[in-house]
Amino acid sequence: MKKLLYKGIEFDDFVDEVKEYGTYYVHMCESCYQKHKKAIGNRIDKGSANGYCSVAGCENEAEHYVDFSPEDISFVLDRYFYIIEQGDNGNKVIHMQGNIYSNDDGSYKHAEWTFLYLGIDEAKYMLDTDTFYEFVNERVNYLDDITEEVATAIVENYFDEDPGKQLDIADITEDTPCGGYWF
Ligand SMILES: [Zn+2]
Repeated sequence: MKKLLYKGIEFDDFVDEVKEYGTYYVHMCESCYQKHKKAIGNRIDKGSANGYCSVAGCENEAEHYVDFSPEDISFVLDRYFYIIEQGDNGNKVIHMQGNIYSNDDGSYKHAEWTFLYLGIDEAKYMLDTDTFYEFVNERVNYLDDITEEVATAIVENYFDEDPGKQLDIADITEDTPCGGYWF
């Protein structure tokens, strides 16, 4: 997943309307708006939104839209790689591979798991209960500092010169073909 970053505020979902209107937009709740009022300024479109707040870690219902121009914002890289395999019992399993991400200070990291297998239902349950990232991040076996250039190259070639297919864990089913994926 890619996060949108604006003046230190991280948004974990956003809508890209750059082609249509030249902007990205996010949802924001009243309490996040009050907290970031100064930074947001006249980018707010008050009282028009429904859906959930896009601010990372906030689960409130949103009331407002906020528009950003591409030159106002940057993106934080955060991509998880995994392989769908056939488990011993015949069910599909998720074999977690690695995570390439950047931090607010501009540094890039490469994390890897050695033997981290998750059942599909188990992974979905952890995502629903907001425990997934804590669980996998605690089990990282290898962590390295990399440059932006290396991060880009790894992301594009993660599975033997193949970037893998984008697939959210929430969308995996028993019919998902075996192979390399990311979200
Ligand atoms: Zn919020």
